[in-house]
Amino acid sequence: MTSLDRPQLYLGGEWVTPASADTIAVENPATEEVLGHVPAGTAADVDRAVAAAQAAFPGWAVSTDRAAVLDRLHTSLASRAGKIAETVGLELGAPLKIAKAVQAGLPLAVLRSYADLAAKPVPERTIGNSVIEHEPIGVVGAITPWNYPLHQVVAKVAAALAAGCTVVLKPSELTPLVAFLLVDAAEEAGVPAGVLNVVTGTGPVVGAAIAGHPGVDMVSFTGSTTTGRAITHAAADRIAKVALELGGKSANVILEDADVTRAVKVGVGNAFLNSGQTCTAWTRMLVHRSHYDEAVALAAKTADGYTVGDPFAPETRLGPLVSRAQRERVLGFVERATARRVTGDPSLPGKGHFVAPTVFADVDPSSELAQEEIFGPVLSIIPFSSDDEAVAIANNSKYGLAGGVWGSDERALSVARRLRTGQVDVNGGSFNPVAPFGGYKQSGVGRELGEFGLSEFQQVKAIQR
Ligand code: NAD
Repeated sequence: MTSLDRPQLYLGGEWVTPASADTIAVENPATEEVLGHVPAGTAADVDRAVAAAQAAFPGWAVSTDRAAVLDRLHTSLASRAGKIAETVGLELGAPLKIAKAVQAGLPLAVLRSYADLAAKPVPERTIGNSVIEHEPIGVVGAITPWNYPLHQVVAKVAAALAAGCTVVLKPSELTPLVAFLLVDAAEEAGVPAGVLNVVTGTGPVVGAAIAGHPGVDMVSFTGSTTTGRAITHAAADRIAKVALELGGKSANVILEDADVTRAVKVGVGNAFLNSGQTCTAWTRMLVHRSHYDEAVALAAKTADGYTVGDPFAPETRLGPLVSRAQRERVLGFVERATARRVTGDPSLPGKGHFVAPTVFADVDPSSELAQEEIFGPVLSIIPFSSDDEAVAIANNSKYGLAGGVWGSDERALSVARRLRTGQVDVNGGSFNPVAPFGGYKQSGVGRELGEFGLSEFQQVKAIQR
């Protein structure tokens, strides 16, 4: 037993022994060593977790204590910020600076926003002779991925709890350790028994059991589009609500009148954040032909300047990919690509699942490189000749999650409005943790964060007088 082992599940406010003795080994992707073990949960554990969440729901749904509980949860989680960054650095390989600012900082900001929203009085709303009420939807099954492992958990759990729902959470089996820090904080903060339950395990066992469980009123999922489809099928039989945050293939559009240097530098940083394992990553850089050669050279130079290596070394900008399978998948895209590779050596030697930042130019907009979500440090550069052509290329995607546009304000805004995506940053506008977040097309259904994220977990009732 190593110090990071977490042998028990958290169900009904207690640490309990799982139904099966099987465990999942959690790997450090930078060293390929085992960090610890978590339970390989089963459908029997999910049954127990759902029963606990159902039992807690009636009380939590009408509790006047929710804002105070979330406020205490924020305090408890904030006291673990250093531990959160370290844990995500170990199990995901996130470089320490990103781990502190994003992997720990973002979930704390999101939790704070939901503690504040829960405290806000809801004004009475009437439509004619009807009073409109917002009620919690019930028991929420939350299934999350590994790339922002605490942020994605908190975006669901904090919003659901603020709305008055109770939760059964299944974190990713690749990065489950940081979710236990949230449970520790919940226990310390006095979150009532059964309001938050955690079952670790694999997707096909625990995830599928949650998605298909008759006692789960809503499934909130973040992950791949393929899994999102499976979850939607599983929930369809009982007409349970599904919210999905899925993949992306976002475009960074650099118009003729853009500040090209800034647009390229920020764009490369965005594409390679978290080693490219970011659903909103601007993985396609669309550049007006008048700046094309300059942009390609600068993108290659910027990528070459990034240090790849030990996540805990201060100079590191890119850590490893999360797993051997993910590295092999990414290298497969690089090997199959027919576009011009301007930088990136995919064959980094030594231990750990590292891939160098890789840039392709003259990418065919309909090729695999430009169409598929690679989820690694691979950037595709594509030229265009007019704003209309840029919009057409950007929208030529089954995804529609995010994007960037650079140019004079009015022109960039007009292009931003024509992009079929849920978010767009104009001239480097920064991430807003309370703005609605979610996708068009196969990037998902529903919105997370802020008020829009809260209302996903509510039903609307009209009472006529
Ligand atoms: P994944 O779909 O493989 O896994 C996500 C979660 O679903 C994990 O907890 C996994 O165990 C579970 N799961 C797997 N199979 C399941 C099944 N049959 N039934 C129920 N649950 C199942 O995705 P991943 O590899 O962990 O994450 C990477 C993907 O997530 C990328 O495609 C990325 O774009 C996407 N993502 C999207 C967002 C967003 O907000 N839009 C954010 C982060 C990641």
